[in-house]
Amino acid sequence: MTRRALMAGNWKMHKTAAEAKLLAEQVAAFGQGVTDRDILLAPPFTALGGVAEAVKGTGIIVAGQNVCWEEQGAFTGEISPLMLKDLGASAALVGHSERRQIFRETDEMINRRLRGGLDQGLTMVLCIGETLEERESGQTMEILEKQVRSGLAEVAAAQMIRVVIAYEPVWAIGTGKTASIDQAQEAHGFIRRLVVDLYEKDIAASMRILYGGSVKPANIDELMAQPDIDGALVGGAALDAESFGRIINFS
Ligand code: PEP
Repeated sequence: MTRRALMAGNWKMHKTAAEAKLLAEQVAAFGQGVTDRDILLAPPFTALGGVAEAVKGTGIIVAGQNVCWEEQGAFTGEISPLMLKDLGASAALVGHSERRQIFRETDEMINRRLRGGLDQGLTMVLCIGETLEERESGQTMEILEKQVRSGLAEVAAAQMIRVVIAYEPVWAIGTGKTASIDQAQEAHGFIRRLVVDLYEKDIAASMRILYGGSVKPANIDELMAQPDIDGALVGGAALDAESFGRIINFS
């Protein structure tokens, strides 16, 4: 089964609305002629509308960096799936390690966010990954299994077509350290086998698993050559159009 690559940029809390629009236009220029892979941009909420406008007609997917499970209500500081769609977004990230570590989001909360987004038709990128301490104490696969099982709890097989998993070892995010190719492929293979167990072979075979953690132009080609790496979730290098342009044009 061939999976269409997905190259995603997570801009985190960077860029004003005007700066984000400009970066989106530059990325769109680098993405021109790229027809065999998907490109996704996750700007801050405040820049979503402008970015969606800037990439209209290019096929670039616009995503929120998080999403609430409710459509509306007393949830100060949250953004609903309907609000994301209203601004032109069709996807959202959930469970990013910064949400888990800094803002103490739990597996249960992340699962609710994921299901809320799926129910409203969004494509959902579930981010998972172990900390350095967990890796060093030999708990990596156990942690990944827990995050996948709880993240996908009560997600129907029919909705899995809109689920993407991003494996991002926490110790590799923004640190300049990338997991070795073998470590990344081992984790991706493990995640795919887990999805076979939870669902079925076809669902696992068509589900995209992205690698994230200090992805840059220098390592993207090697990462993308791995059988279970179907794309990348890129932080720092996605803030520079030329670097991200090189990443989306991996060979
Ligand atoms: C991320 O934000 O998901 C990420 C992987 O960041 P970086 O590429 O900067 O490590």
